[in-house]
Amino acid sequence: MDTNRTAKLEFAVQMSCDSCVNAVKGVLQKEPGVQSVHVDLAKEQVLVETALTSLQVQSLIESTGRRAVLKGMGGSETDLGAAVAMLSGAGLVQGVVRFLQLSPDRCLIDGTIDGLTPGAHGLHVHELGDLTQDCRSCGDHFNPLGKQHGAPQDSERHVGDLGNITAAPDGRASFRLEDSQIKVWDVIGRSLVVDSGEDDLGRGKHPLSKITGNSGERLACGVIARSAGLFQNPKQICACDGVTLWEERDRPIAGKGRKVTDAPTANL
Ligand SMILES: [Zn+2]
Repeated sequence: MDTNRTAKLEFAVQMSCDSCVNAVKGVLQKEPGVQSVHVDLAKEQVLVETALTSLQVQSLIESTGRRAVLKGMGGSETDLGAAVAMLSGAGLVQGVVRFLQLSPDRCLIDGTIDGLTPGAHGLHVHELGDLTQDCRSCGDHFNPLGKQHGAPQDSERHVGDLGNITAAPDGRASFRLEDSQIKVWDVIGRSLVVDSGEDDLGRGKHPLSKITGNSGERLACGVIARSAGLFQNPKQICACDGVTLWEERDRPIAGKGRKVTDAPTANL
């Protein structure tokens, strides 16, 4: 599958002068995976059309000494929908994974998951967005067509089968996938789960191979929620928990440490 199709990524970037704009443009424009860069100094906004992952673009922008926060993603044509899952679990694994429907049969899945053991980990959409018993209540792999477990490129697969992601030695998996069976509108309200082991893609000898890919226990999960597309998120402050967009950058995306616990009392 052609995985080089571009998407537009909208970042909020701290910029105060034209030289900042030039620095950001310069570092992005010399990158082969970047098609176009548009910088709006007044709005502190950078729009990048690229085949790179959002983390790669963020790292490039931040290599100029500025902080960048991803605000939205969009396709080249009309947006067909976007969603995001914030993953957390009992351990230290956490992540954020974004879904963007580029066309009726192409869904872009861009994510970063931290705290994994190095190597391959199964990633699946599960049928239920139910975290009442942590990841155990997410149900089975999303399988509306009644098929057996398989690899993303197989016709015999669960719709939720996204294969494996690979964590680097530092425990981080940063990935960008395109999938033909996932539709944003079908998976909103369901859950995304990352597993402890490698998904054998239905090709193993274990009894679970054709059911789960025998990819071990569920390490972290999150409900897939509708999210902003491009330019739909005008906020500079996240109203959800009082963390500003800039502070957001340095905070865990979920779990412990997310909430501000040491906020000073109001001085009235
Ligand atoms: Zn499956």
